Amino acid sequence: MNNADLTHIKHLFSTRKRIVIVAHKNPDGDAIGSSLGLFHYFKKGNHEVQVIMPNDYPEFLKWIPGNETILKYEESPVNCDTFINNADVIFTLDFNAFHRTGTMEESLTKSSALKIMIDHHQSPDAYATYTYSDVTMSSTCEMVYNYINMLGDENSIDADTATCLYVGIMTDTGSFRFPSTTSKTHQIIANLIEKGANNSQIHNNIYDTNSYERLQLLGCALNNLKVIPQSRTAYITLSQDELNRYNFKKGFTEGFVNYGLSLQGIVLAAIFIEDKQEGIIKISLRSKGDFSVNLMSREHFNGGGHTNAAGGRSTLNLTETVEKFISILPNYNNALNNE
Ligand code: 5GP
Ligand code: MN
Repeated sequence: MNNADLTHIKHLFSTRKRIVIVAHKNPDGDAIGSSLGLFHYFKKGNHEVQVIMPNDYPEFLKWIPGNETILKYEESPVNCDTFINNADVIFTLDFNAFHRTGTMEESLTKSSALKIMIDHHQSPDAYATYTYSDVTMSSTCEMVYNYINMLGDENSIDADTATCLYVGIMTDTGSFRFPSTTSKTHQIIANLIEKGANNSQIHNNIYDTNSYERLQLLGCALNNLKVIPQSRTAYITLSQDELNRYNFKKGFTEGFVNYGLSLQGIVLAAIFIEDKQEGIIKISLRSKGDFSVNLMSREHFNGGGHTNAAGGRSTLNLTETVEKFISILPNYNNALNNE
């Protein structure tokens, strides 16, 4: 996004606009935080704004200011399509290809609204008039902060916007510990606290609101943890039966994959979660250093993401998916053992 783009954007929003903000399917803290952060900013600027998520998201994200205004496309597609069709501008946040929005893909593809992309994933598609894409950024929330700042509107960041943006920076950096966390990230976090984000309360709301059943499911996942020392790899499986046993709810398995990576000497961690309803195995991959799980997921598991965190899926059954994973590991042994 260059100076000419910023001048155009400033001009664009100098009059009241109908704005729709969308993020990816199965939205996480960064998707919800960036969308609602931008929502509060535009509300303050007296625009008409609607946030639409493709589907539902975990309970631990439902306290975020503005949550009650979010529409879910899967729940009310006709209503959501009206907003999309009437929008002057659509912001697409925390994703960069329409297929990442699931059933919203068709409406977004058809829409003639001006599109603005703000995203930190690799290989952005070319659908947006203005693309702010930077894979070095910790989070889309950090980029939304920069975007508001670049437009000279930093002073209009209120406590609600600050809270939303804090959430996404915190969750996407693993609480400020992943390599994407820079001094700039910390400076922005400091500014957000000054603007009213209650950091301690936010950590509590996200991380310390576990249900007993979720912790029991974590126990089951840790019991299933396997290590492949020669590939410096650890993986976890969860079958649909196991999920049912602990009364699985959306978001329960968030963060489980990181336990594998916390083992000394492990460079690659995976979790395979059976979803009988969708007929797929949902895969999350995490790595340390330069080992790219984005490439591994793109090559073998119909997904993608970042160098150290990626997602994917498999239509094989759980056992076959794990066998496939184990069978491809020797191809990566050199890279894994050089980390
Ligand atoms: P998770 O494992 O938490 O689902 O995803 C890890 C990261 O990879 C997130 O940044 C997420 O947005 C991204 N990601 C997850 N699934 C996919 C996918 O199917 N395609 C792409 N391109 N990115 C994904
Ligand atoms: Mn993100």
